[in-house]
Amino acid sequence: MKVYLDGQLVEQEDAKVSVFDHGLLYGDGIFEGLRLYGGNIFRFEEHLERFEFSAKALMLNLPWTRQEISDAVCETCRANGLVDGYIRLVATRGVGDLGLSPWNCPKPSLIVIADKIALYPEEYYEKGLKIVTVPTRRMNPAALNPAIKSLNYLNNVMGKIEAQQFGALEAIMLNDQGLVAECTGDNVFVLQKGQLYTPSAQQGALKGITRDSIFDIAEELGVPISEHELTRYDIWNAEECFLTGTGAEVIPVVALDGREIGSGRPGTLFKRVRESFQRRVRTEGTRI
Ligand code: PMP
Repeated sequence: MKVYLDGQLVEQEDAKVSVFDHGLLYGDGIFEGLRLYGGNIFRFEEHLERFEFSAKALMLNLPWTRQEISDAVCETCRANGLVDGYIRLVATRGVGDLGLSPWNCPKPSLIVIADKIALYPEEYYEKGLKIVTVPTRRMNPAALNPAIKSLNYLNNVMGKIEAQQFGALEAIMLNDQGLVAECTGDNVFVLQKGQLYTPSAQQGALKGITRDSIFDIAEELGVPISEHELTRYDIWNAEECFLTGTGAEVIPVVALDGREIGSGRPGTLFKRVRESFQRRVRTEGTRI
């Protein structure tokens, strides 16, 4: 596999960064996860924009134009003959000294990895996930805004470790007020009395790009949708619940904390949403 690293396509074994890169020393950097479906990148511009927004938030001056970043992504996919897959776009702060200050890092690094994706096993799209709420709280936006897709993902990693300790593949993370924020790597939606709700960025959710497309799908299906505060109680008592993410796509949740949600099986709205999503990923997108 060829990896894009600072303007060159190198073999996987040679794709190495310095131990002095602040991406490694401090998690100082940003990333995006994108999907390639049938040679088209889904919502490419939105990912590139969020990448730039993350950089702006961290005062990481990207010395590449959007076109150059986009070319690097497409070039990497083509070099690997990839038609369907997952793309990881990363910018690190670059090499500096051992101090925290980013101003000693003159040159950020740009990395693109294009590979196959391991989704949740197909059976979970059919029978649904049983998930738990984990003790680790989502980061307070005043500390590190979860809207930033930074290389410092330890808050999510902690959540994932705890999920797995409870035997679950995903987990609900609450914010510091005890409201539902999102999952460790996915956004969450519930259906209550015919309306779809999802937590806002202020409540600790990443503004997911798949989450965004659910707003379009809800409009198409004529289902009212809005951002709303949610508690665990709201999920336990929802008619349906599903998660969204670039890797996960749309996946149903049938139990939270041992409480069955709705009928305990993936709901009808989930099925319609998934169908529409699958159609959109095949028909929308930017050719590489
Ligand atoms: N929340 C978190 C914490 C994430 O890391 C992600 C991306 N994996 C998502 C939600 C989903 O966002 P998107 O639909 O843009 O992939």
